[in-house]
Amino acid sequence: MKTKLDLLPVNEWGIKYHGRPLLMSGPCSAETEEQVLQTAQALADSGVSVFRAGIWKPRTRPNSFEGVGAEGLKWLSKVKKETGLKVATEVANAKHTYEALKHNVDVLWIGARTTVNPFAVQEIADALEGVDIPVFIKNPINPDIELWIGALERINKAGITKLGAIHRGFSSYGDAAFRNAPNWQIPIELKRRFPELILVNDPSHIGGKRELLREISQKAMDLDFDGLMIEVHPNPDEAWSDAKQQITPDVFKELVASLKIRTKGSGQEEQSRLCELRKKIDHFDDELMDIIEARMKVAEEIGEFKRENNIVVLQNSRWNEILEQSIAVGQSKGLSSDLITRIFKAIHQESINKQTEIINRVLV
Ligand code: PEP
Ligand code: MN
Repeated sequence: MKTKLDLLPVNEWGIKYHGRPLLMSGPCSAETEEQVLQTAQALADSGVSVFRAGIWKPRTRPNSFEGVGAEGLKWLSKVKKETGLKVATEVANAKHTYEALKHNVDVLWIGARTTVNPFAVQEIADALEGVDIPVFIKNPINPDIELWIGALERINKAGITKLGAIHRGFSSYGDAAFRNAPNWQIPIELKRRFPELILVNDPSHIGGKRELLREISQKAMDLDFDGLMIEVHPNPDEAWSDAKQQITPDVFKELVASLKIRTKGSGQEEQSRLCELRKKIDHFDDELMDIIEARMKVAEEIGEFKRENNIVVLQNSRWNEILEQSIAVGQSKGLSSDLITRIFKAIHQESINKQTEIINRVLV
């Protein structure tokens, strides 16, 4: 299904936008008035556009800290008054939304555990009807791009054109390097489909530990993300939620200063050199197509032969041989075994599909 979102450019949102990266930072949770104000004051001159703090916390287990509730919204009002920062909080239902709007929260975000639920997203969308406020939507916890887009559409349909997406990674089972697997191809696909949509990366929830923040943030910048949402706490180890992934305001400033922000290469000379090189790529892509086409034709011939001679489609020893040989050849050419495995699995699967179709073809 093709859709278009009606989007307003970020420099018209009424928030300070100093160019990439748009920074949205602050604690995972508002804990005390003092902690909130101390963090905000430390961030006031750091290029941060939006101060974030969770008031209602969707926690996995019920006996964890679940947020200070509406009381914390007064602290966010104070942050606005004392620092001039715009403030943001997470809303998960209509009640949160009304409360946040009543306290003049400037920016809302919908969390990963809410994006998965179209009923909850619709309820928030209905509460936002006629309201002019920037809203960011985190990816759902499962790697389902359509669900993410669906949430964006619901909020957009309510008239919200100051709309952004936050990539915070996807849940998986068992020990993994990341708290939430980034699956970068998903936000890349979102950007391909909605080039005007503001896309923010959340390295804190992807990494789950502060040591990973820089690497993930840099990768997001190199993939041309528009912004970063990073959790900052004056005393991270004592944080009431997500302690391992939070950093102090000073470490945050160092991290941001260390990022290399590359351009789109839109200068004339850059463009003509890129154009030249891309022509070579196009040429090889054409050759690849011809080769894949020719290979598939042979696979089809083999399918006909198997049909005539009543031979099964999958020949495991042959498949192993192809894969092992290709990985070895690939390695000698400096191509990773991961790349070769993915390419050959895709090609082999297509051959199997074609051959299965051929041997089961009903002649009329
Ligand atoms: C958060 O931003 O603190 C949060 C709860 O994030 P997520 O919805 O990505 O888990
Ligand atoms: Mn958090």
